[in-house]
Amino acid sequence: MIPQATYTAPSTEIESNPRAALWPNYKPPTELVFTHGVGSELFSEDGTAYLDFLSGIAVTSFGHAHPHLVKALNEQATKLWHTSNVFRIPAAERLAQRLVESSFADGVYFANSGTEAVEAGLKSLRAYQAANNHPERYRIIGFEASFHGRTMASLAAAGNPAHMKNFVHGDYGFDQAKWGDIASVKNCISESTAGIIIEPVQGEGGIRPASQEFLKSLRELCDEHDLLLMFDEVQCGVGRSGTLFAHEHYAIEPDVMAIAKGLGGGFPVGACLANEAVSSSMQFGSHGSTFGGNPLAMAVADAVLDLVLEPSLLKDVNSKASFLVKELEALTIKYPQSISSVHGLGLMLGVKCVGENTKLLLELREHGLLVGKSGDNMIRLLPPLNVSQAELERALTLIETVLQNTEVT
Ligand SMILES: *Cc1c(COP(=O)(O)O)cnc(C)c1O
Repeated sequence: MIPQATYTAPSTEIESNPRAALWPNYKPPTELVFTHGVGSELFSEDGTAYLDFLSGIAVTSFGHAHPHLVKALNEQATKLWHTSNVFRIPAAERLAQRLVESSFADGVYFANSGTEAVEAGLKSLRAYQAANNHPERYRIIGFEASFHGRTMASLAAAGNPAHMKNFVHGDYGFDQAKWGDIASVKNCISESTAGIIIEPVQGEGGIRPASQEFLKSLRELCDEHDLLLMFDEVQCGVGRSGTLFAHEHYAIEPDVMAIAKGLGGGFPVGACLANEAVSSSMQFGSHGSTFGGNPLAMAVADAVLDLVLEPSLLKDVNSKASFLVKELEALTIKYPQSISSVHGLGLMLGVKCVGENTKLLLELREHGLLVGKSGDNMIRLLPPLNVSQAELERALTLIETVLQNTEVT
């Protein structure tokens, strides 16, 4: 017999704190709730329009409710949601083929998030070494101030002590090198090293593009020692940097690459791309996901790719980015007491604050502009890739208004 539930009235705690039943691991502003979005704008419950230059952290790359994406999702929703990878998913086969044709890769694994795509990639580095008679090569070199997501191995790869505390104990098989310091990478290499993971443009840790020389040296080091080079392009990939993948700026190819954020335009999806040697070492049964690559995610990601691969898109991203950088740099000269420099690639931009970045972020939000924060005291701008010139100008006006009127130092 299953016991009957008795009705309990909602507790007063829920009434006074609508988030009481959620884990307290997030802390959104209490009074602000968005009901819908159109293009680059989000609308709150009271009808206020906000210009969304955060894009759900580089996710809604074509803004909100883009007709092409809505159509793809709606059409798929009436047909088939899920079968699991027990059966063929033709949309996944097709999307993988498109990604392969547009990149260095020969094989793709679909996941549901960035950190899962990273995990798959980390496993593939070890799988490759094991498949090539080097099971002893399992250690992976990561970089300080990196971010690879919140699963255990991703935490260990990034090595951020604040994120790892209480969660990652002992040696997870990762070593930590200094950003931009090839000697420190060399110091980490041992008989047990399998590969290196790096964000070509660091996102969370401060908007920091790697230098040409550094990435080139990493590639050479990997080739020399038969190590694999993995790029985490979860944030900087899929058009965000002004090229389809950020590493194209450097003309350096990885062996493995994780992507996610912009890939689904807001639908959760991630992917790990790899060259033939690595792909083929992920044999039957080596990895898997119940949801990964499901028909809904594939339909939307395929539609996102339609938009990213439109011939003028990347050119437009670059010209908008140059305009935005030029104008922001002018503001650093006009308001040096508040902002000091502009960083990034394409429409993944960081503005370094003189005072506390949180203060500037809150002021901007008060004025109707949503931005993010990043390490190194940055304000992070991640507007939709299809943002209009008028919206860029509106954002710049809002930023200048805030810099003029308030003490953000
Ligand atoms: C956001 C992010 C991740 C993690 O993605 P989730 O979808 O949150 O798991 C990993 N790497 C980078 C570079 C990211 O920016």
